[in-house]
Amino acid sequence: MQEKDRAINKQYELSAAQIIKNLRTRKFEAYYCQNREEAVEKAMSFISEKSSVSWGGSVTIHEIGLIDRIYKTNLVIIDRDKAKTIEERFEIMRQSLLCDTYLTSANAISEDGVFVNIDGVGNRVAAITFGPKNIIMIIGMNKVCKTVEDARSRARNYAAPTNAHRVSVNPLLKMPEKTPCAITGICSNCKSDECMCSFIVETRMCKIPGRIKIILVGEALGF
Ligand code: SF4
Repeated sequence: MQEKDRAINKQYELSAAQIIKNLRTRKFEAYYCQNREEAVEKAMSFISEKSSVSWGGSVTIHEIGLIDRIYKTNLVIIDRDKAKTIEERFEIMRQSLLCDTYLTSANAISEDGVFVNIDGVGNRVAAITFGPKNIIMIIGMNKVCKTVEDARSRARNYAAPTNAHRVSVNPLLKMPEKTPCAITGICSNCKSDECMCSFIVETRMCKIPGRIKIILVGEALGF
């Protein structure tokens, strides 16, 4: 490992230790994994055999290989990307809200343990707030922000515009290139038909202790 990577990892580890303490005071289960491989193993350890699993839009859970791993199991998988029509996609998203374990990430997290999620349709934030029995949230340390205000700003001014470019390739969805942020890279608080920011949810406590399990990962993941 290069000197630079070692230094960054050390910093991530120290920072994560404090965030985990703060998350636990908010009744989240919280863990730190040094890399994506460890994070996948940790996530899988929370998923019971024969249970049902689903997920919301997240680059992180795909890029760490968690979804590929899930597909190698005998779990009951509820995957909206298997839908052939938009109606079917919405129906699968509704079914996701009653799954046993829901996988996702956050757009940003503050050092004191509040995380922010932006959602266009609302399926992801609905699942986080209520429905699935367990939420497993994988968050790269690149998403850590000093304050809740910084986390909101990151979600709004960085994550959402970047996501506009990502979802534009999905033929079932409207063309988010038409959002102002997809053109300028800056949020203009739009009300366009394609707006991806209908819901901006801050989660500051886990009402059912341990229902939301947060795995911080010492890598830059997602955006
Ligand atoms: S311009 Fe619209 S879609 Fe883009 S980040 Fe702002 S509110 Fe969201």
